[in-house]
Amino acid sequence: VQPRIYTADEHRIELEKIDRHAHYVIQKLREEGHAAYLVGGGVRDLLLGRRPKDFDISTSASPEEVRQIFRNSILIGRRFRLVHVRFGQKVIEVSTFRSGDIESSDLIVRDNEWGSEEEDVLRRDFTINGLFYDPEKQVVIDYVDGYPDLSRRMLRTIGPPEARFKQDPVRMIRLLKFAARFGFEMDEQTYQALLECKSAILQSAPARVLEELLRMLESGAALPFFRSLDQYGMLKDLLPALGSYFEQKKEDNPILPFLSLADDLVQKESRAPDRTLLLSLLLFPLLQERLPHSSHLLQQEIHRLIDEVFSPFFLLPRKTRAILVFLLSTQFRFTPLDGKEARSFRLPKDPMAITALELFYFRAAVSPDLQPLFHKWNQPSSKEGPHRTRRRRKQG
Ligand code: ATP
Ligand code: MG
Repeated sequence: VQPRIYTADEHRIELEKIDRHAHYVIQKLREEGHAAYLVGGGVRDLLLGRRPKDFDISTSASPEEVRQIFRNSILIGRRFRLVHVRFGQKVIEVSTFRSGDIESSDLIVRDNEWGSEEEDVLRRDFTINGLFYDPEKQVVIDYVDGYPDLSRRMLRTIGPPEARFKQDPVRMIRLLKFAARFGFEMDEQTYQALLECKSAILQSAPARVLEELLRMLESGAALPFFRSLDQYGMLKDLLPALGSYFEQKKEDNPILPFLSLADDLVQKESRAPDRTLLLSLLLFPLLQERLPHSSHLLQQEIHRLIDEVFSPFFLLPRKTRAILVFLLSTQFRFTPLDGKEARSFRLPKDPMAITALELFYFRAAVSPDLQPLFHKWNQPSSKEGPHRTRRRRKQG
């Protein structure tokens, strides 16, 4: 198939907007005789006039070849092998053109069959994510009608949606993610397939689903995303305890203002709070409904809550769980269970204490009666506080 080509005066992507390291990686691969393009979310975001979060590159070179061209690179992944080229903190992801049977409904367990550039586009999820950008010719290359879908603000799978969702149910979460983030419509067939296939989400790898949920918490569109996850019944499938909480609370749900505040922070400061802090926002309101009377039962109760919320599907990394327990239990240093005021306003000696204070910041933003107490804990004399945390670099 001949792709449609869009030139610079049509697509209006300015070359300067492209990350210079990504540009360098493409040039270098081409000098070595390989094909290489910018692809996926980066191209989509540039066309939408947004700042891309990351720049992915697709190439004809095999992972081993890429690895050999860039000294500063590592091979990663098994299910999906690719190369990370590192420039300081920054990582450019380079993946080899792949092929895939887009009609088959079998669950994909491994995806390392090399292919042509056209095949590589066809195995991608949505048409808006299937565009190549060639920085040398400054053209957008479109095999899937992604360009018109972007201007129509339309989400459409590449290939038959039911098969594509059954192959990889995580794509349904990604569909809700793009709908929430961009406010795009779903194409009718894609929408029908979502309704048909949504319960298949439990067949995907929990770690991948958790990663998408965490990314959405950090995205600046967490509120609309969790709302739609709830509306489609997928919240109940993935996180049953949270699903019933949403059902029971409807519009009075205290998690919603937390998410809304997280979205505001991300949009204003273009960097997200700590991931575990974001997770704790989903748990804190549930914990408040089952607080024990004495503080030595608190930790146990928090563990029980975490088990309940994340089981049976997810397995939380042990470190994440430990941090969650700390963040949640520390809240009751700020607002003791017995209702008395703390004797001093010193933060616990723990590197995560500032993050715990940040959770308190969320609570106080949502319940203004906590404001005076929050300010006592957030004294500049304690040197650090959420105002400083804010400026810290994103972790993890
Ligand atoms: P984000 O802005 O959240 O990073 P993204 O579209 O860039 O969104 P990535 O996870 O970074 O998402 O993936 C990069 C590209 O890889 C996508 O644009 C898409 O082309 C392809 N892709 C990602 N996940 C899938 C999937 N599950 N199935 C098919 N293609 C996928
Ligand atoms: Mg991306």
